[in-house]
Amino acid sequence: MIIEKVVCPFCNCLCDTLVVEVEDNKIRKVEEACPKAVKGFLNTGRKKIRSLVNSYPVSFTEALSRLSQVLSTRKQLLICGLAETDSEAQMEAIKLAQSLGGSIDLVPFAPEFKKFHLSPWPLLPTCTLGEVKHKADFLLFWGGDPLTSHPRLLPLLGINPAKQKREKRPTLVVVDSIPTATSAIADLFIEIQEEAFFPALTFLRAELGEKKNSGSLKDEYKLKLGKLAQMMAGARYGVIFVGEAAWKSYCLASQFFKAWQQLNFRLGFQLLPLIESLNYLGGEMVMTWQTGYPYAVNFSAGYPRFGPQEYTVDRLVKNQEVDGILTFGADHLTFYAEDAELFLPSVRLGIETESTIYRMDQIPFSTSKLLSPGNPTQAQILQALREEISKC
Ligand code: SF4
Repeated sequence: MIIEKVVCPFCNCLCDTLVVEVEDNKIRKVEEACPKAVKGFLNTGRKKIRSLVNSYPVSFTEALSRLSQVLSTRKQLLICGLAETDSEAQMEAIKLAQSLGGSIDLVPFAPEFKKFHLSPWPLLPTCTLGEVKHKADFLLFWGGDPLTSHPRLLPLLGINPAKQKREKRPTLVVVDSIPTATSAIADLFIEIQEEAFFPALTFLRAELGEKKNSGSLKDEYKLKLGKLAQMMAGARYGVIFVGEAAWKSYCLASQFFKAWQQLNFRLGFQLLPLIESLNYLGGEMVMTWQTGYPYAVNFSAGYPRFGPQEYTVDRLVKNQEVDGILTFGADHLTFYAEDAELFLPSVRLGIETESTIYRMDQIPFSTSKLLSPGNPTQAQILQALREEISKC
């Protein structure tokens, strides 16, 4: 069977034009996809993973009942992860945290990405990738390599990486700490160490505001940043994509916002995140419209309380303020999962279930169910768990 217009769940570009051939509940062929997606789809094995209790295989019902018994005795449960799962599961996770009076926090693929206490994406005015493609004449990637992490993003935005000859396309600028595949095709590449991102942004803001900034930067950086400021000032509509490497501190993040505000006094500029976690943005959106806050929420008082200094995973674990951790949608959280007493496998997101995932421009997409699931979805597990706990 050939399925068309499949949404790809392997990065948050969420390309929706893939053609997938399925036979005997196996994916045989993938077309209209990048190599990363082809590899991801074709490596989707059909092995059914068993539920485990203390590393011993048990039935799903048994594991669920054991888990509900354990969780019902916890007074300070933390539910975390959620960045690699769908929005249906994120909603169920919030309901579970609320019913148990616990805490809930999102953890992106690169946890340091969220170590500052500002999470603006659900509150920002934004633009769609379609708008960027049709309107932008200037693209700046700061601290990210989209050709590797989001292989079809540049073609989606009207830049063909294979064409050597400069055709009519948006000006492409990359600022990063190392040369990357994207920097190799950029019109301007500024190689600058991560520690210098902050002074570089400060210098750039001063240049854009036509003020003098002596700063501590080397002259070669100043020259290139001056050229970048000129390019930005000459743009009609520009977009700054902020990679995870450039989003590691509150100060740096606020510099990006100030630069963005400053640019919008006289030019049209937008800010978009270049995040590797598939549905971190979806998690922030769901948390915001369900609790009023984007992450680090606690329900122990019976209503949602936001505590970016108190209820983030790192704070709660460091201060030993939790007596149980339930992680899901975060394969990278191995530092907690290694010692898991209970393990419940679920479906492969976007392949075995119809899921809602948010693209990097905050547009929700529905993925297709290509294969019959070998396990329940994460939303089903969480819902069953909540019902089971209510009986305890
Ligand atoms: S760019 Fe991303 S979403 Fe598009 S096909 Fe490749 S992996 Fe999938």
